[in-house]
Amino acid sequence: MLKVDNIDFSYRKTPVLAQISFGLEQGKHLAVMGESGSGKSTLLKAIYGLLDLVQGEITWNKKKVLGPSFNLIPGHENMKYVSQNFDLMPYTTVTENIGQFLSVYEQDTHQSRIDELLEVIEMTDYAKTKVKNLSGGQQQRVALARALAQEPELLLLDEPFSNIDQFKKNELRHRLFPYLKEKQITVITATHDPNDVLSFSDLVLVLKAGQKIALDQTLKLYHSPKEKYVASLFGKVNELPVKLLKNYTELDTKILVYPHEFELSSDNGIKAIVTRNFFKGGRFLIESQLLIGGPIWFYSKTEIREGAQVFLNVSLELIGKRLKDKKMLDDRDL
Ligand code: ADP
Ligand code: MG
Repeated sequence: MLKVDNIDFSYRKTPVLAQISFGLEQGKHLAVMGESGSGKSTLLKAIYGLLDLVQGEITWNKKKVLGPSFNLIPGHENMKYVSQNFDLMPYTTVTENIGQFLSVYEQDTHQSRIDELLEVIEMTDYAKTKVKNLSGGQQQRVALARALAQEPELLLLDEPFSNIDQFKKNELRHRLFPYLKEKQITVITATHDPNDVLSFSDLVLVLKAGQKIALDQTLKLYHSPKEKYVASLFGKVNELPVKLLKNYTELDTKILVYPHEFELSSDNGIKAIVTRNFFKGGRFLIESQLLIGGPIWFYSKTEIREGAQVFLNVSLELIGKRLKDKKMLDDRDL
């Protein structure tokens, strides 16, 4: 089990992580989300033991993680960290790079282990290719395989698919994460791509300016987002006054509504004028303008002409649920 207990970290005098605490059980997959500069990479480095904390403590299976001032070889021995710049050996082959971290005591099984990993990252055909001749995305996959060579207990992945093209990315995610689950490896993935998160993470931790603003199970966080910043990490979201959605209410508050949560009607609901269509494959994301001002985003199966008037509705059930989530938050805040 990982325990992060009230840690603070600063680069020189600038605070980058503030009072972060959380626990993560063995075998769980956690995604760390947040906008660029929110502290995701810094948190991963701190957990791996690459930083000297200003305050607080990190433990892995009850053993304290030591920073570089207290540890000759930086980085925890039972963890592996795949950074945003892969740190490979460019003039040696893919096989040699992956084999580099295998134990000399297990020579007999080296080749089969390397073959297994090459299959996970779908690079079997490149076994004998020198790393410098690979694309950025291929290098990133080799870095992943290398981190897995000696099965770590905790794997830290920093934007692991950022250089990999969309087609390969989907393929790789669907192979890699189930493989890691099967091996019971605990995983923390820093990412700003919701597609890395929704299907593959048990839990999501959200950072904003170095602070933890949410930590919850993925589905719960998505369906009951605490604030617009959290919901926005998953895509477009609207924040609308309840009075607009339910006109006889006295409540003077706003709720979050995802674009897919609207239903279109031909004659009643919130009136909006379509301003733009964005083709998204199976559907269109549509930007429209409320008559009272302000944009509103929704999905439609078909394209809608610019300038057309539409009527949008949200179910009373959803309004009730979001209000309940909000009230629960208020109760807790009091
Ligand atoms: P993220 O990974 O979420 O984009 P980072 O953890 O890389 O964010 O950075 C968090 C903050 O720390 C940013 O404001 C960044 O500019 C700052 N920072 C990161 N690395 C350094 C460094 N080596 N020296 C000084 N400031 C840094
Ligand atoms: Mg980063």
